Parts: sequence; C-alpha cells; structure tokens
Amino acid sequence: MSHFTLKNYETIAGNAIMNEIEAYGEKLQGYNVLHINSTAVGGGVAEILHSLVPLMQEVGLSVKWSVLKGSPKFFNTTKQFHNGLHGQQVNITAEMLEHYLANAQKNRNLLEDEADLIVLHDQQPLGLTAYRSESKSRWLWYCHIDPSYAVPSVWYFLAPLVAACDVSVFHLPEYARDLSVLQYFMPPAIDPLSDKNREVTPEEYDSILEKLDIDPSGPPIILQVSRFDRLKDPVGVIEAFRLVRKNRKCQLILAGGSADDDPEGAIVLEEVRELADNDPDIKILALEPNANLQINVLQRRANVIVQKSLREGFGLTATEALWKEKPLVATPTGGLAYQVIDGKTGLTAKTVEEVASQIERILANPDWANKLGSAGKKHVTQRFILPVYLRNWLRLITLLRGQEK
Ligand code: UDP
Repeated sequence: MSHFTLKNYETIAGNAIMNEIEAYGEKLQGYNVLHINSTAVGGGVAEILHSLVPLMQEVGLSVKWSVLKGSPKFFNTTKQFHNGLHGQQVNITAEMLEHYLANAQKNRNLLEDEADLIVLHDQQPLGLTAYRSESKSRWLWYCHIDPSYAVPSVWYFLAPLVAACDVSVFHLPEYARDLSVLQYFMPPAIDPLSDKNREVTPEEYDSILEKLDIDPSGPPIILQVSRFDRLKDPVGVIEAFRLVRKNRKCQLILAGGSADDDPEGAIVLEEVRELADNDPDIKILALEPNANLQINVLQRRANVIVQKSLREGFGLTATEALWKEKPLVATPTGGLAYQVIDGKTGLTAKTVEEVASQIERILANPDWANKLGSAGKKHVTQRFILPVYLRNWLRLITLLRGQEK
C-alpha cells in the first residue's frame, strides 16, 4: 500500500480539491467500505486501490480491501466474460457458469455485515451478490471496462447480478446500460506520487536503462506499455512501427506483463515475439507485476508513446504518459477519447497507417510534440489524478448516504 498522506498531494492538486476532500470527510467519519477485486497486483484496479485505500482511511473512513480467490478455470471464465463485455464472441458453457457461481460461494466469507458499502470491482466478484444478506450494507458494482458492445450471452448472465446491487458505476456516461439500478459515472485516476509516476533521479534513470539495455541517447523510442492482450493490439503497433521505420531510424519497445487474472497473457506474448522475429529494433519486455519504476523510466525515455487499443475501459497507461508530458498517439476509444484531444493533448489515430503517420508527425516536430505533452499534463492534472478521484468517491458516498432511509 502507498505510504503517502493527503498533505503530500497538496501542491499537485491545489487547495480547492483538498478543501472539498476535508469537507466531505468530516461527514463520513467511520463510514465502513469493503472493496473486493480479484488481483492484488497487475492491472488498473489493483494499482488504484493500492493508492486510494490508505487515503480513504486517512480521511477517516474505515476501509478494507479483500481479494477474491479462484482457480485457473474460474479466471478463464472471467476472462471470457471480460472479452464478451468488450464485444468479442465467446464460448461460455453452462458448466463454466456453474463453476463461476460455485467460486462465489467459496469466497462468501469475504463479505462483512458491518460494511456500510461493499464495492465489487469488475465481473469476477459479481457472483457474491447471491450471498447478499439482510444487513445494512449497500452494494456497488464498479465496471472498469467499456461494456457498450457486450455480447448478449455475457451481459444477460451478469445483468441480474448487477441488478442485485444498489448502484452501478461506469467510467463514462457513454457506458450507461439498460439497468434497473442507479448508474453513476466516475473515471479512474493515476497516483502522481507512486513509483510509476513520480519524478525519477538521474541515477535511477541511468541505472534502469542500463539494466534494460536501452541506450539513453540512442535513436528515438516509440513505446507502448500494456498487458499482452489482443485488445491492446500489440500486433498493430508493430505494423505501424515498421511503416515509420521505413522513413527514419527508430526503435519500438512493447512493455508489459500479465495480470494474475489474465490467462491469455502468455499466449499473446508468444504471438508478439513471433511477429517481432528477433528484429533488432524491437524490444519486447515481459515485466514483473511490480515493475513500476521501470515503466516510469521507460515512459520518460520514450519519444512517442502509443496506445493503440481496440477497446479500452479508460486507459491509465495514457494518463501516465500525459502526466509525464509525453506526446501520445492513441485510438480515440473509450476513456482514451477523453484524454487525447486530437491536436491539443496528443494525437488520435485508428488504423495502422494513421498511427504510423501520427508518430512520424511527432518525430518530425519535437517542439510541437512537447507542447502537446504539456497540454496533456494540464488536462490530466485537472481530471484524472488521485486527489480528484478521492474527492469523486467521497461525493458518491455522500450521495448514496443521502438515499439511506
Ligand atoms: N501495467 C503494469 N505492468 C504491466 C502492464 C501494465 O504495471 O506490465 C500498469 C499500467 O502502467 C497501468 C495499468 O497497469 O497503470 C493498466 O491500466 P489500463 O487502464 O491502461 O489497462 P488495463 O490493464 O486495466 O486494461
């Protein structure tokens, strides 16, 4: 868990946000929140809970974070749900659904009657709704991906489980669904003080680049940081890079690990390695789950950061890039469209060819690229950093309390 206190964020977030946090906090002393997700490390949700939970506690709420357990078979099913929520055709059998529900039963001891609010993150813990008791707890489902294109077989299995909650939260208003429960919209955020995002010392910078065998002053680097997942389109990034390299000397780094709940990661990594075919200008880095400082340094070393996702819940990797004032080329899908405003805070591109041409524009115009980066940092500082996110959570809880009988 992060060891920073609210005071540490004051200069970054500004007084107005800090005052709001304090004012909401005063009315929420002792309010008991239980977060449940399915990974302790890896992926956006774990990342944010590491930073959010201690700050919520400091404000005066009583907050606990529990991690759901499951077999590889369970995570295979929930990954199919994930893909199905993103609109991919999936093959889900009755046996898989039974196994999913049985896994919830095994995890029911995670539930705590004294919680005022139980927060289920993503689809993995939704089965726990079957064990909702008569206690005072209110239940919230937080969907961290874009479910707009969800395939019916997955949505109509999950929707009744969501309906057993009191409120559902999506990152963006576009993600609203036909649900019988209250819907609320709250994008995630990055922690500007975490090892992933803080300033690095010159010694850290040099030593990490040396360890990764990256020349600090070599040819321009194009970087995508992402789990090895087809929806992040690493293959498309390699194709775009090969187009750019026809015209200028540059290198590509694809950096990413796989989350504990993502059984497809190793397969996709293998596919990507095959396509790269030992190309000396392409570096594929399989990172450990806690490679935060490495990601930080890689992002700072990069000349262009790419996020060519085919679908994206929000895209915290883009937020991290903009926070570091980096020129970013991203597909305007899901939350990426809120972060990259074409020509202002970065550049948008959909196809391989468009990505290649936007990368070339950035490499050809470094001063302009720097301006995009600075505007990007301002944009995310106002909207997508941890103190703003904490304020949004406190506001949501206050609203929910207003609904209590
Ligand atoms: N990340 C990481 N290691 C990796 C790949 C990703 O720590 O190998 C981090 C990344 O820096 C970001 C988060 O995991 O903070 C990914 O969040 P995002 O919203 O971009 O995508 P998700 O993985 O949740 O689909």
